[in-house]
Amino acid sequence: MAQTIWAKSALLPHGWADSVEITVDDNGDISQILINTAYQQGERHNVLIPGIPNVHSHAHQRAMSGLGERAGQAASDGTKDSFWTWRKIMYHYLDRIQPEHLFHISSQLYLEMLKAGYTCVGEFQYLHHNRDGNAYQNSAEMSLQCLHAAEAVGLGFTALPVLYRYSGFGSVDSLEGQKRFINDADSFCRIVETLQTESDDNADTSVGIAPHSLRAVDQPLLESVIDSIGKDNLAAIHIHIAEQTKEVDDCLAWSNQRPVEWLFNHFDVDQQWCLIHATHMTDSETAKMAISGCVAGLCPTTEANLGDGFFNAEQYFNANGNWAIGSDSHISIDPVEELRWLEYGQRLVTRGRNVLTSPKTTNTGRNLINGALAGGAMACGRKIGSIEVGYRADLVVVNDTHPRLYGRGEDDLLDSWIFSGNENMVDSVYVGGRKVIENGVHANEQQIASNYRQTLDQLVD
Ligand code: ZN
Repeated sequence: MAQTIWAKSALLPHGWADSVEITVDDNGDISQILINTAYQQGERHNVLIPGIPNVHSHAHQRAMSGLGERAGQAASDGTKDSFWTWRKIMYHYLDRIQPEHLFHISSQLYLEMLKAGYTCVGEFQYLHHNRDGNAYQNSAEMSLQCLHAAEAVGLGFTALPVLYRYSGFGSVDSLEGQKRFINDADSFCRIVETLQTESDDNADTSVGIAPHSLRAVDQPLLESVIDSIGKDNLAAIHIHIAEQTKEVDDCLAWSNQRPVEWLFNHFDVDQQWCLIHATHMTDSETAKMAISGCVAGLCPTTEANLGDGFFNAEQYFNANGNWAIGSDSHISIDPVEELRWLEYGQRLVTRGRNVLTSPKTTNTGRNLINGALAGGAMACGRKIGSIEVGYRADLVVVNDTHPRLYGRGEDDLLDSWIFSGNENMVDSVYVGGRKVIENGVHANEQQIASNYRQTLDQLVD
């Protein structure tokens, strides 16, 4: 049976509308939208906005978030605690995680995402094999745990199995600590096929690929994978790029080109691509990336936590570049904090205010939400991010009666949500028309949290 959801105020593609009745068909797609219509039946809310896509997640890292905050020893080159010491801690955890652990960690994580207002996740999953580095009987076992966790909690899901083969630029052999990640073209394509088959009948999922980085793949390998799967059969292609200055230096030493420059010189980068981080770019790389139509996958809280640097956002926004947000290492699971820090980083760099606005909207919070929705939908390769006929009914009810937002309407409400206070303002969440969060609560959250605690007990030494 089709259902109706009514809201006093809803953010539609062309702006805010009053008294909006949304009809959702049996498949979970929006089939009709009426505005200026008195409430008649169905669910009734005050403020509805589209659910926000989270385009970059490494689910297993949820289990170690906050554990990389002790000062480490100086590296051999004299630099203090760095990304590379964090990566050492992460590898230690990685060695222990079994399929059922990943399911429970992912379930807890995805539940937290829903409660924060994310309605789809791009899961950049690179833990493929068992602890000995051998394939599981079903080679897609680990990615399937994430898919099944998303299905169980009711979160939209874009599978991004990671292609990982080498440990450095120029096809350097992989390291012992990377044995759970490594595939060749054939074994990787089988994982993708399995995920495509398993998610075929679920309209809340899609499947892309994620070449881990230019360190981890080379041109022939990535080309052969894209050719054998067929680019049109992929929801998206995501890659980590230019996150750290060391990576830029290593790429220059290897190829005499910077990472983003190298990628554009060797691949036809278009709207199907999502470049994760792209922190260190020259002005000409920034312009090229914006013109290409690809999406910049920005993860401001993780980039801050790891000391990566600042994305060239002012120039990129001025050039109308597409972008989206991701919670990446899950040091924070909240679109509000990602968007706030995206803007605050730019304020600190430029010593100005309201940097990431656009000619279309001068309200910074609204502009940030607009960008994250449009770019997020592209990076997931799904019809989401917009309250529009034919799109998934992925909807977030914002709690406008809370004192923090009381008396605010439309764009002022979004600005206040993003920039004022820290309590969660997400009241209810729909994914594909199914109400998965009601009054801030998920029906299975106690069981999921209990399973998660047991999993952590098992992972601790
Ligand atoms: Zn990442």
